[in-house]
Amino acid sequence: MSEITNAFSIAQSQFDHVASLLHLDPQVKELLRWPRREFKFQIPIRMDDGSLKVFFWIPRPTQYARGPTKGGIRFHPSETMDTVRALAMWMTWKCAVADIPLGGAKGGVAVDSATLSLAEKEKLCRGWVDAIYRNLGPRVDVPAPDVGTTAQMMGWMMDEYSKLAGQFTPGVITGKPVGSGGSKGRKEATGYGVIYNVREAMKHLKMDGSKASASLQGFGNVAQFAALGFTQQIGGKVVCVSYWDRKDKAAYSVVNKKGLDIPFLQNITDEYGSINKEKAKEVGCSIESGDAWLEQDVEVLIPAALESQLTGETVKKLSGKVKLVAEGANGPTTPDADEEFKRRGIFVIPDFLCNAGGVTVSYFESVQNDMNYYWTHEAVLQSLDTKITEAFNKVLKLSVKEDVYMRDAAYMVAIGSVVEAMEMRGWL
Ligand code: NAD
Repeated sequence: MSEITNAFSIAQSQFDHVASLLHLDPQVKELLRWPRREFKFQIPIRMDDGSLKVFFWIPRPTQYARGPTKGGIRFHPSETMDTVRALAMWMTWKCAVADIPLGGAKGGVAVDSATLSLAEKEKLCRGWVDAIYRNLGPRVDVPAPDVGTTAQMMGWMMDEYSKLAGQFTPGVITGKPVGSGGSKGRKEATGYGVIYNVREAMKHLKMDGSKASASLQGFGNVAQFAALGFTQQIGGKVVCVSYWDRKDKAAYSVVNKKGLDIPFLQNITDEYGSINKEKAKEVGCSIESGDAWLEQDVEVLIPAALESQLTGETVKKLSGKVKLVAEGANGPTTPDADEEFKRRGIFVIPDFLCNAGGVTVSYFESVQNDMNYYWTHEAVLQSLDTKITEAFNKVLKLSVKEDVYMRDAAYMVAIGSVVEAMEMRGWL
């Protein structure tokens, strides 16, 4: 039988598995397997060369039992209806497992934003808001940045919404630049959140951080701060990061067995997470294949690029040393790879728990926008650590008590809390 790699099928199959463990009512199960509502629209843009280009339907599927919906907007060429549906579903579980009073959503445009000029990007962002304006709002649906979108883009979107609403409304979107209602600590939030999870998992597994090494897929927002946190907070070594080279249209891995200098790599990486490989070579790194990140002799693997990267096939390449997989990306693991992790006794921190740091600080950003009072960097990171540590330990406790896989335990916590909210609202 061929392997399931479609992100939405993976999201549904993970949910179905835990719905059976929980003996969920079949009607409730059906309700939760699908987005509660979806929007599709077109965005016509006048390009710099005068031509008209229409960017096609960008679903924003949402599930709103626990509060206003929340989720990123992706500008990525391989975005599809199903990736966005899967990501919206994972957002619902993410907010629930982190105990944030929000539902899940996601949006996407199938475009490589690096191919657009600054003016075209701004038109696309404003056009996105114009198309969905009536269904956005601090108490309705609050987007955020994701792959291919930036703080500057969130600033344009907030401005467009504020113009249409006739009032300054910073809380309509998060991940804004600090100074336009953004929160300090948002840029590090997801990567550091991954590391707070890793720290707690290492305590549980009795691993010595100072002797541990890690390999990461990706070197964008999540991976950069996860790599930095792994070296600075855990005290370990990062021996490999990989990235997508837009010029060569190929993935590469940057390797240094002695440990990569992460701040240096950040300095030679562009805003889309592409590393300058010539400059990396000058400081003794080797440039290897896109899959080399899987083959390193490391204890910790952090996929932090795209979904469906760890498959039944690719996990065969993992070294026998790997003890811990921290899913920085959304949906990086297929069900076949999950089976292999279980068989090998690898401890997995599931995506919607592992990368919940971003949405947690996004939530803090909304709270600060509501109060019109802004926290210090230290206060944001301290509150983030508390929230993530609590979430991790709640899931771990259930996993140990019920003797279930960490992913299943995280789903049990999340589904339980969404179903409870639905019951309280009288939906069931
Ligand atoms: P990003 O666009 O900043 O970085 C993506 C990185 O992945 C880049 O370095 C890119 O070169 C690399 N990449 C792309 N294709 C690749 C490939 N085939 N092989 C190797 N590297 C590849 O994105 P990000 O914000 O860091 O998000 C990464 C993942 O984390 C996504 O799954 C995203 O949904 C998830 N996530 C992001 C956040 C956030 O706050 N940014 C929060 C939660 C989850």
